[in-house]
Amino acid sequence: MRYEAPESVEGAVALLAGGGPRGRVLAGGTDLLVQLRAGMMAPELVVDIKRIAETRQIREADGMLVIGAAVSGAELGEHAVAKVLWPGVVESAELIGSTQIQGRASLAGNLCNASPAADTVPALVAAAATCKVAGPDGVRRIPVEDVCTGPGQLSLRDGEFVVAFEFPKRSPRSADAYLRFIPRTEMDIAVVGAGVNLAFDDGGRCVAARVALGAVAPTVILVEEAGEALVGTTCDAAALQDMAAAASAACRPIDDKRGTVEYRTKVAGVLATRAAGIAAQRAKGSQ
Ligand SMILES: Cc1cc2nc3c(=O)[nH]c(=O)nc-3n(C[C@H](O)[C@H](O)[C@H](O)COP(=O)(O)OP(=O)(O)OC[C@H]3O[C@@H](n4cnc5c(N)ncnc54)[C@H](O)[C@@H]3O)c2cc1C
Repeated sequence: MRYEAPESVEGAVALLAGGGPRGRVLAGGTDLLVQLRAGMMAPELVVDIKRIAETRQIREADGMLVIGAAVSGAELGEHAVAKVLWPGVVESAELIGSTQIQGRASLAGNLCNASPAADTVPALVAAAATCKVAGPDGVRRIPVEDVCTGPGQLSLRDGEFVVAFEFPKRSPRSADAYLRFIPRTEMDIAVVGAGVNLAFDDGGRCVAARVALGAVAPTVILVEEAGEALVGTTCDAAALQDMAAAASAACRPIDDKRGTVEYRTKVAGVLATRAAGIAAQRAKGSQ
C-alpha cells in the first residue's frame, strides 16, 4: 500500500485520479484505519488530505461558514463562530465517539464512510450544507443529502474527494439542533438521529424548516413533509404533532439489536419534536 500526503487539492486529485479505483482518502482515519486493520479493505493507495490547507480551515465571511473536510470535531467545538452560527452541526460532531476520537474524526469522513447512522449527516442535511468536491473534471458542488446513495455507497465519481462544506448565510431568528438516541450514555451508534433547522419571522411564525433523520433508512433522509408541517405555524403543539407524524411516516428502518422497526419509527417522531423545540428556543435567542 502506498501512502501519500499531498499539499494541494490538485496534487490529491492527480494522485486519486491516477491511482485507479483502489485509492482511498484518509482524513482522521477513525473509520478507515479500523477497516484496514479488520481486513475489510486493502487499498493500493491512501491519500492523506490533512496537509492540504483548505481541508483544515474554518472560514466565515458575511455570515457564511466554510468548514474544511478534515477539520476535527474537537477543532469545530472550539470555534466560537461555528458554535454561534450552527450549534446543531457542532453538537453532532461533539457526539462522535470519545475525546480521543473527536481529536481526529472529521465531517467528511463521517459523511463518506456512508453509514446511515452517521451523527453529523442529519445535522448537515438540516443545515442545507453543500459539499465542495474536487476531481479530474474540476470543482463541483453537491448538496450533502445527495452524497450517500446507500450504506457504504457514494455518488462521488472516481478521483473525486470532498474539500469543504459550505453553509448558507444564517438569517436572523434561525437556529439548528441535533439529537440522537443511543442505548448507552456515549460511545454507541445512533438508534435514531434527528437534525432540525428552523427560521422564524418577526412575528414568531416559522418561515423555513428542514428536518433530517438518521438510522431510519439506508441513507440519511431529508423529510420535506415534516418541514412543511411547521412552516406557517408558530411551532405550537399541534404543528409539532403533525411534524412528528410526517417524520415517523418517512421512516424505513431495519430491525436489529438496537431497535425494532416500530421502536425506531416512534422514536424518530419524538426526537424530531425535541430537536425542533431546541432549535426554536435557540432561534428566539438569536435575534
Ligand atoms: C471508538 C469509535 C467511536 C465512534 N463513535 C461514533 C459516533 O458516535 N458517531 C458516529 O457517527 N461515528 C462514530 N465513529 C465513526 C467515525 O469516528 C466517524 O465516522 C468519523 O467522523 C470519521 O471521520 P474520519 O475523519 O476519521 O474519517 P476516515 O476514517 O479518515 O475516513 C472515513 C471514510 O471516508 C472517506 N473519506 C474521508 N475523507 C474524505 C473526503 N474528504 N472525501 C472523500 N472521502 C473521504 C475515507 O476514504 C473512508 O472511506 C466512531 C468510531 C470509533 C472508532
